Amino acid sequence: MTARLYQQDVYIKEWDAQITSVTAAGEPAGDAGSGLFHVTLDQTAFFPEGGGQSCDLGFIGPYRVTDVQEDGEEVIHTVSADGELQCGEQLHCTLDWPRRFDNMQRHCGEHILSGIFYARCGGVNRGFHMGDDYMTIDISLEDDPTDPDTPRPQEIDMDLALECEARANEVIWSDAPVSVFRFEEREEAERMPLRKALAFDEDISIVCVGSPENAADCVACCGTHPSTAGQVGLIKIYKVEHYKSMFRIYFEAGARALKDYDNKHRILTDLSNSYSSSVEEFPEKLRAQEARLAEVKDQLYHAKKALIDKECAALDAALADGSPAAHTCPGQPLHTPDAPLIVWPLENLSLDDAFDMAKRYMKNATKLILLYAKQDTSFILVSNGEPKCGKLVREYASFYQGKGGGNDVSARAIFSSEENAMLFADLLEKHLR
Ligand SMILES: [Zn+2]
Repeated sequence: MTARLYQQDVYIKEWDAQITSVTAAGEPAGDAGSGLFHVTLDQTAFFPEGGGQSCDLGFIGPYRVTDVQEDGEEVIHTVSADGELQCGEQLHCTLDWPRRFDNMQRHCGEHILSGIFYARCGGVNRGFHMGDDYMTIDISLEDDPTDPDTPRPQEIDMDLALECEARANEVIWSDAPVSVFRFEEREEAERMPLRKALAFDEDISIVCVGSPENAADCVACCGTHPSTAGQVGLIKIYKVEHYKSMFRIYFEAGARALKDYDNKHRILTDLSNSYSSSVEEFPEKLRAQEARLAEVKDQLYHAKKALIDKECAALDAALADGSPAAHTCPGQPLHTPDAPLIVWPLENLSLDDAFDMAKRYMKNATKLILLYAKQDTSFILVSNGEPKCGKLVREYASFYQGKGGGNDVSARAIFSSEENAMLFADLLEKHLR
């Protein structure tokens, strides 16, 4: 049986231990001569993964610990080692303390916040995620069977969440003690003001934030916790969302909350600087910029519409008298009244604009029109359904590395160069003649 030093004192960071068993753990870690081993010790301060808290890491002697799991009465350490580990060997062990303290701050933050949600609105913590990416608790609002007449909130909105956050931080700043009470039997443990029913009948650890008479939180837990709430430092909720029939609370605690503040402050400062604004004035500047952008978009829309009107008038005239397009492209087939198609270059319009223009000719075009968006070196084909635009693109565009598609009355044909685009137009003219 491994003696669990983390249960006696969570602040043990270094200790000596004897290897009590060694077995090979599957595939080698990678480097030649090194491998993974499962190691048990006579005593360990490495907390094994459990209760939503990830395991401790560190070193056993010179060997890196990559995972720690509980297996009955033993704690199994996975270590990466060169050569053979010797059973009976005495080694000095060191904990990755920043990782452990980070875990303790976040995990204890979860206790405090869960306790506050429970006390404030009967919210029961039904799920917990403490990942490297983010931390959440899933709070379920449930009726109190012992007090069905007292109304409880039906929703956790940001206002309620921030109220609970404020209370949780008050608990932290009061530096309430965090105590672990161990009970052999369920009946004794149930005398504590528990927030959740017990899942075990014996060997029960109850964690209590504050005194049991006036606990901010009291629940069964086998994790590691700092000795006082003050060490959690800070709790910050940043998002609340509906999750199944519950409310998912995104928050951070301890150094992670500070890091989150740091990150967001940096983002905000960078954005403010790019708008030549202070952080305080930034929202106003951004709104002004958005209003200006909407204005410019409106102007652009009308300018493009006028340009399309002008192009349509010129195209209509060219179709009527058979004259070539006003501006031509190198290699572009010249237009004649009996030509089966007309290539119409557009100087300052995109392919999407060309499509807007094409809408006016779908079904009523007197011949195949190839609207050529010069900036995109691509065409919108438009006809009255004969010839079939989509079919032409599918059959001929690939000859010149083109792609695209569409239906009978319109299609896109996209090319990587003007030369290829014009060769495609030329091919269509020869095909349709
Ligand atoms: Zn805990």
